[in-house]
Amino acid sequence: MVGQPKTLYDLRKVEGAVNVTCKACGKARLYDLEELISVRLFHRQSVDWDVVLHEMPCWHCPDRTETRVAIVPYAANDRTLRARRAETLVINLALTVLKQAASRANRDGIDTPAVRLALRVLRQFLPDRALLVRFWEEGQAAKSTATNESHFAHGWIVQALLRGGHSVWAEFRRPGDRV
Ligand SMILES: [Zn+2]
Repeated sequence: MVGQPKTLYDLRKVEGAVNVTCKACGKARLYDLEELISVRLFHRQSVDWDVVLHEMPCWHCPDRTETRVAIVPYAANDRTLRARRAETLVINLALTVLKQAASRANRDGIDTPAVRLALRVLRQFLPDRALLVRFWEEGQAAKSTATNESHFAHGWIVQALLRGGHSVWAEFRRPGDRV
């Protein structure tokens, strides 16, 4: 990475996790990046990297924020973590395509090659294709009506992915979705 990250979102370009070590008790915890973003947004804490560096509490003694925060790059031979990161990127890019399509559904419908590709990509991560069919049908229906239910369908897809143990970017989750 070139230069210091400004926010936690910038770390998405880095293949690694975030390690937080407490200077008081010495305990360390490795955070998945999306988990860390979700936790901080949930508690209405800043995701600015500079703030995280100085105000990241210890998981063991939460009143202590004298912690050492460091990015731990995945080892070159860590295939599982790399595969998971690649999978996370593919899933979330597909969710981005569907989100943008949903926001234009009333005007344009959602029948585009990008949406078809995104649905096919997500199919391999969802045990049941019913939610994807629902998204497609709601998005198509939105073109001829004033309502647009495809946003709800998008939310259900996100929840199903989380239930399946997949990492979903914080901006797609709603309060109450599991972390
Ligand atoms: Zn501690």
